[in-house]
Amino acid sequence: MSDIELNKRQETILQIVKENGPITGENIADQLHLTRATLRPDLAILTMSGYLEARPRVGYFYTGKTGNQLLSDKLKKLQVKEFQSIPVVVNENVSVYDAIVTMFLEDVGTLFVVDKDSILVGVLSRKDLLRASIGKQELASIPVNIIMTRMPNITVCRNEDFIMDVAKSLIEKQIDALPIIRDTDKGFEVTGRITKTNMTKILMRLAENDII
Ligand code: ADP
Repeated sequence: MSDIELNKRQETILQIVKENGPITGENIADQLHLTRATLRPDLAILTMSGYLEARPRVGYFYTGKTGNQLLSDKLKKLQVKEFQSIPVVVNENVSVYDAIVTMFLEDVGTLFVVDKDSILVGVLSRKDLLRASIGKQELASIPVNIIMTRMPNITVCRNEDFIMDVAKSLIEKQIDALPIIRDTDKGFEVTGRITKTNMTKILMRLAENDII
């Protein structure tokens, strides 16, 4: 990654590959008077972080990628399955009042609404519930399926989708969360949740070099 802290030996390896690549691990080790085994972790870090590329039977190449390119490559590879949270779901027949209570107790900003077969039928945001609370309505007797955003207008994602595509959806649709779903014969089963908070955590982890 761009701002990964390379140690002195890793810097030296980079220099050797820059000048002599393609070069085998064996040859790099010889130049440094070290064993191949000693170098293995350094070479692994340099290839995983994108500075070097390893080709079987040829050796190591210097990729020439700048910090920004490496960061961008890395971001584009991140997938939903690595960064999800647990979803909070309510049944479509629960009342708006109960949904409000659930939202507070579970400390989330978005609830996913499911039918009796646990299939996704709707989404409830904080503002949906606030809007329903305006006026003198009987919140305990209004079911959430009256006020929710319903299928097929729900933006979903799947485990193997890319985080950057989720970020794009969150921005373009101006929403806070996407349900992560699994396709079944009956419809979408909710398996997770990905939110703007997950995105912020990704940012922190990138800064802390906690994401390879
Ligand atoms: P809030 O309304 O509390 O600011 P959002 O921005 O997430 O929260 O929601 C805005 C609107 O979009 C709400 O009416 C909500 O039901 C709907 N919504 C939220 N998430 C989704 C989604 N994944 N797909 C479609 N609509 C959504």
